[in-house]
Amino acid sequence: MSLSILSVLPIQTDMSRRGWRWYLALASVAIAGYFLTPTDTWTQTAYAELVGLAATGAIVVGVVKYRPAAGAAWLWFAAGQLLNVLGTLAEAVIGRVLHQETWPSLADVLWLGLYPGLVIGLLVLIRHRSQGHDWGSLVDATTITTGLGLLSWVFLIRPVADDSSMSLVARVVSIAYPVGDILVLAMVTRLLVGAGSRTLAFRLLAGALLLYLLGDASWAVINYVGLEPGPAAVKLLQMNFLTAYVLIGAAGLHPSVREVGQPATQRTLRLSPTLLVLLTLASLLAPAILAYQVWQREITDGVAIVIGSMALFLLVVTRMAQLLRQIERQSKQLSQLTRVDDLTGLPNRRAWSAELPTAIERARRDRVALSIALLDLDHFKRFNDEYGHQAGDRLLKSATAAWCTRLRAVDQLARYGGEEFIVLLPGATTELATGVLERLRGATPAGQTFSAGVATWDGNETSEELIARADQALYQAKHAGRDRILAAADQPTAAAPDPTAITPNPAG
Ligand code: GH3
Ligand code: MG
Ligand code: MG
Repeated sequence: MSLSILSVLPIQTDMSRRGWRWYLALASVAIAGYFLTPTDTWTQTAYAELVGLAATGAIVVGVVKYRPAAGAAWLWFAAGQLLNVLGTLAEAVIGRVLHQETWPSLADVLWLGLYPGLVIGLLVLIRHRSQGHDWGSLVDATTITTGLGLLSWVFLIRPVADDSSMSLVARVVSIAYPVGDILVLAMVTRLLVGAGSRTLAFRLLAGALLLYLLGDASWAVINYVGLEPGPAAVKLLQMNFLTAYVLIGAAGLHPSVREVGQPATQRTLRLSPTLLVLLTLASLLAPAILAYQVWQREITDGVAIVIGSMALFLLVVTRMAQLLRQIERQSKQLSQLTRVDDLTGLPNRRAWSAELPTAIERARRDRVALSIALLDLDHFKRFNDEYGHQAGDRLLKSATAAWCTRLRAVDQLARYGGEEFIVLLPGATTELATGVLERLRGATPAGQTFSAGVATWDGNETSEELIARADQALYQAKHAGRDRILAAADQPTAAAPDPTAITPNPAG
């Protein structure tokens, strides 16, 4: 391949990446054409079909071209979309060619085909996006769906179900729309509150779905109130659906469609203010409907409202329990993090220091000995300078690991800071403690030495005084030439300690 061909390639890829923009521009022209054409004409139907079929085509092209994660989801969307577009064509043919006025007709069956396409597609997408179970999002989505589902039941579904003047088929078709909307709403909410990428394709898809729902909700309100929308209003509502077509097509054709079905890298843990408002409104819907019916002096849906309220209460309590569990888990993790030293995995100074007063109290109560020891690696700066900081880190890890195997089960070793460590030796006299420390000296790897100061609790002193004596002994050990263990004087010493009071370590 010659260099000139290679240099042209990126431009071609760039062009094809812009395909979705071309699609958006052409679809906008077609929508404008629809808007400017008189209602109930074949030209207008042609524009609507063009927009709808282009959207279906765009999704299919996107699947072939970008091979998105959860490609099946997009094909389901395309299928639902296609049936919906054919519904509009069927309506035109039934009305303008066959001159039939029957309702429901084949057009409704085709329009309803959008729902299984969207619901199954969304199910596939959500399954791909959520890693394991995201119970929080599920509860949030169920709460919002239950609230709106109750609303839909009281004002849309139950009145139709009870209407004996309608044929069974008419009732089933009438109910199928709000039921389909509720299912789509449940999926959309779950998709929006769940974790996962928020690419442009995702936002276009969400926009399309919300427009479908908005359009259906508008029709539901118009029918419920008994309005007769004029041709302009019908046109605007139809354009709402056409815009939804365009958005879902653009979502499928945008390069970021690849990522929409990819598993979320992290779970949603936060409850955003918007979501909180939505959840609050959804859970208030049951009492609001009851209040409305009380005001109307006719409670027609008592049982549904009771069931809906109970479900909403349980969902809210479940969500609270989830959040509490999450807070407990996080605070446990947090306190664990503040108590452990990263490098060695040992307790840190804070954690160790919190244990000492308790150990002293126990020693006082049980009248047993208690010793502590401060250890400091000798000339560790030199080791770092010679072998590097990382080798120093490795030595710190291997030394503490080796020491842990030589300690008694009751001893508690902690990293006191830098290359300094501290050991709590419950029940240990000075002799016993020194013996344990000797074992640690023998286990220290790489020929590294340490100096240590041992202090045995005198029966009265505070934690601070005990540590100060161990520190003093360590200081003495360093000055005496390092690589040794010294025991502190029995009494806390003043600024100038009496060197004869320090018991030299036989091995030192
Ligand atoms: P001394 O025998 O007097 O204790 O000499 P020293 O060099 O050990 O003491 P100094 O206080 O002069 O230096 C301590 C050194 O320990 C300096 C620092 O680089 C090293 N150090 C402290 N923390 C770490 C750590 O986490 N990793 C590594 N690699 N080195 C550390
Ligand atoms: Mg040191
Ligand atoms: Mg030091």
